[in-house]
Amino acid sequence: MIVALAGGVGGAKLAAGLARVLPPEDLVIAVNTGDDFEHLGLHVAPDLDTVMYTLAGIANTETGWGRANETWSFMEALEEFGGPTWFRLGDRDLATNVERTRRLRAGDTLSDVTRDLCARLRVRHAVVPMSDDPVRTVVHSDHGAIEFQHYFVRDRCVPRVQRLEYRGAESARPSPALRAALDRCSGVVFCPSNPYLSIAPILAVPGVRDAIDARALAVSPIIAGRAVKGPAAKIMRELGVEPSALAVARHYRGVVRALVIDRADATLAPAIEAFGIRAVVEDTLMTDDAARERLARACVATLERT
Ligand code: GDP
Ligand code: CA
Repeated sequence: MIVALAGGVGGAKLAAGLARVLPPEDLVIAVNTGDDFEHLGLHVAPDLDTVMYTLAGIANTETGWGRANETWSFMEALEEFGGPTWFRLGDRDLATNVERTRRLRAGDTLSDVTRDLCARLRVRHAVVPMSDDPVRTVVHSDHGAIEFQHYFVRDRCVPRVQRLEYRGAESARPSPALRAALDRCSGVVFCPSNPYLSIAPILAVPGVRDAIDARALAVSPIIAGRAVKGPAAKIMRELGVEPSALAVARHYRGVVRALVIDRADATLAPAIEAFGIRAVVEDTLMTDDAARERLARACVATLERT
């Protein structure tokens, strides 16, 4: 049984590959909730929804968030009223958030709600929040302290990052399903999600890092010194780290025993292995379902071997 740690887009792609390779009883996908926020009175959980929609086969692959075949009547009406429109919620996506919020207010946990939403969307593999307790990523920047979605969506990642805070993490507990999965799994896969914005909040939940106990394998989100998408490379630079698969290895030192790097970075393998991390060279750009599945198979095979 394998636990996959995932953020949004990069995480969802490999999680979908793993779901094609492993039966439902052998995979638990634990998702970052540091991106969650309260918006329009709703509990919005962007990474959980990206993973859920991707596994359900209804994700909007052009935007990288939200659902395919979306309509925007709600957003248009909200705009007429002069309401906040910087964070886009399509009509169908809105239903997800309204229903989640209704259930949370009725006293259900985020784990309960996520399980039931996934079941309704016929997602067969377990998608679980990292925690049912609130953890909120705050970006400390040259523009001050900014809530994560404001930094990411409203400010388009323009502010220079000085420090990241996973507010609430110190008193959060892993979700029951993540805790149980970490107890009995044979390996952990860090999807090629943003190490600072997606994986770090999960590792910041007390008990998670210790339970992993160096049984993990990570896939580098950095290929040839660049992020495939998003601000990972920019943030690394702002934190004084030259972005590369080697820097990812240094970042995960002591937590992972293997790092999957792209063929484009094959020359970095010896330097990565000098950290005591096994370097596995693969095609890591997941351009289609077949590529996702190939990379997932390579991850599972490496965990079985190491
Ligand atoms: P977000 O929450 O939507 O920002 O998504 P994640 O944190 O899960 O993923 C963002 C990271 O995924 C970025 O740093 C990208 O470089 C990485 N990424 C996206 N697609 C791919 C891919 O096909 N291969 C690899 N190796 N990384 C990817
Ligand atoms: Ca995210």
